[in-house]
Amino acid sequence: MAVPYRRGLHEIAAETYAYLQPDGSWGWSNAGLVVSGTDALLVDTLFSVPLTRAMLDEIAAVRPDVRIRTLVNTHSDGDHWWGNQLLPDAEIVASEATAAVMRADHTHELLAALSPGQLSGAVDEMVRSFDFDGIVPAYPARTFEGGLDLAVGDRGVRLIQVGPAHTSGDVLVHVPDAKVLFTGDILFVGGHPVVHTGPVSGWIAACDLILDLDVETIVPGHGPVVGKPEVRRFREYLVRLLDHAVRSHEAGVPLDDAARTMDLTGFADLGNSERLLLNVGAVYRELNGDGTPDELGLLTRLGEFAAPDVKDAKDQPGE
Ligand SMILES: [Zn+2]
Repeated sequence: MAVPYRRGLHEIAAETYAYLQPDGSWGWSNAGLVVSGTDALLVDTLFSVPLTRAMLDEIAAVRPDVRIRTLVNTHSDGDHWWGNQLLPDAEIVASEATAAVMRADHTHELLAALSPGQLSGAVDEMVRSFDFDGIVPAYPARTFEGGLDLAVGDRGVRLIQVGPAHTSGDVLVHVPDAKVLFTGDILFVGGHPVVHTGPVSGWIAACDLILDLDVETIVPGHGPVVGKPEVRRFREYLVRLLDHAVRSHEAGVPLDDAARTMDLTGFADLGNSERLLLNVGAVYRELNGDGTPDELGLLTRLGEFAAPDVKDAKDQPGE
């Protein structure tokens, strides 16, 4: 089923919905809804209180018959949980590793206090696009490690922990009876991913796990609804990133040069190429083993990092 990439709620299978936020770049995340009878499970809230309120209003308009009793946060990035407070009656579920990061996270306060121009480039643009006022963090009441089976009415939903990969505790939300998978940020479509923690090898393993699941409809954390071919392509990107970063590190190539010289053949259409600095940097951090280069330092340098102009990269049609 081809799902149009338009902002709002889309039924992607029987009683199963995706809430999409084009264009999927910094902070523009997707969410999901699984319904059975009057019972519903929400996959992720959004980056801000107003955005999450708009989503919940639309859900209430389309499905006034249901109550969201369970909220799953796929991982600890703010664009997947900073609206949690609007669901005070739902049981919030996350992996233990994700919950630990959420409890220690105060980034929303920093972002709300920033004045325009304090950061540069894409990150500054992101901060100015969202209203971070009024966020009162609501944390998971139920945590797990590995996997967890949840009931939504008479349907089953399976949570599968695949992190550390994108973040320390990433979880996939599998809805077997609909052959649907909500990946959180284990899948980015249309843009370069962001590697926060890695390891990238764990992320590649997560792609293999997805490719082995009996699923047809895949909702990424960012970008349009896709199928397995996009997961295969994304896996190729991660393999190339890891290979390029490891070889560059071995050869003593400075990080910025390494980030600028990855071969983007086949990936020239991806947006947010400035993220290459974070992604190659994350592999360098893995290999250095001493915490450097630290992510915050890289984030504050994103604006000055001259990302490769992907429009100039040669692409192979039909890939
Ligand atoms: Zn995200």
